[in-house]
Amino acid sequence: MGTARAGLCRLCKQHAKLVQAHLIPDSFYAQISDDNRRLLRVVTGRRGDTRIVQTGEFDRELICLQCEQSFSKCDAEAARVLLASHPQFTEVAATKVVVSDFDCDLMKRFALGTVWRIALSSRPLGHLVDLPEQDKERLRKFLLRPSVQAPWYFGVLWWRFRPSVRWPSRSGSVMVLDPHLSQIDGHRFVRLNLGRYGAMIHLEERELPRPWSSGLMVPGRLAFTLRTFDRSPECRLLEERFLWQAEPSPDRRDIEPLPG
Ligand SMILES: [Zn+2]
Repeated sequence: MGTARAGLCRLCKQHAKLVQAHLIPDSFYAQISDDNRRLLRVVTGRRGDTRIVQTGEFDRELICLQCEQSFSKCDAEAARVLLASHPQFTEVAATKVVVSDFDCDLMKRFALGTVWRIALSSRPLGHLVDLPEQDKERLRKFLLRPSVQAPWYFGVLWWRFRPSVRWPSRSGSVMVLDPHLSQIDGHRFVRLNLGRYGAMIHLEERELPRPWSSGLMVPGRLAFTLRTFDRSPECRLLEERFLWQAEPSPDRRDIEPLPG
């Protein structure tokens, strides 16, 4: 845990010993570690600016032990649902799978807590998530006292990578892009990248229009839009910057060019 020192907890606003808090739980980095299970590959920024890190990022100036522990149940639920070796997906459309065995409140708290930590932290991982103070404060209040709200209020849209054809030994993604701000139909979101998975967290205080609203996580229904890893910015950066030489591809002529 490192040496704890006293400070103002940014979540409960109490003076307390602050602890070393992870920004994204380590378990999500394990799925993107390379073959020797040591190096993790992280791309920062949308356009490149790549670096390699050995572990997830931590911040010891954010939260107290009690607040940190308040996230442990939701982090465990997210790991159970998302990182199981055989997730219980039901295919409902060519581009959609759903899970019904999950705790909606815990999964939402996992997504929002992760975004909150990243947005508050001055660590490099959060450099593209520069939220207005009022968004941070709304998030903080929601995390302290989760209220029953419409599904679109801090609503979460999830996606998942299909296994890669170009990189068959990697089931999905071997890297994460740094989280960043994004827009859908003029609505602001934070895009949270979690290796094989991702979540879009709705920041607006107004209803999300259809069809997006129908994809929001609600109790009993966690839907994942399936994305093609081979056409993702992750794959492009991977090939440009890291692994193009590393994956044996005896017949590269068969590989379709990446879409421009
Ligand atoms: Zn606290």
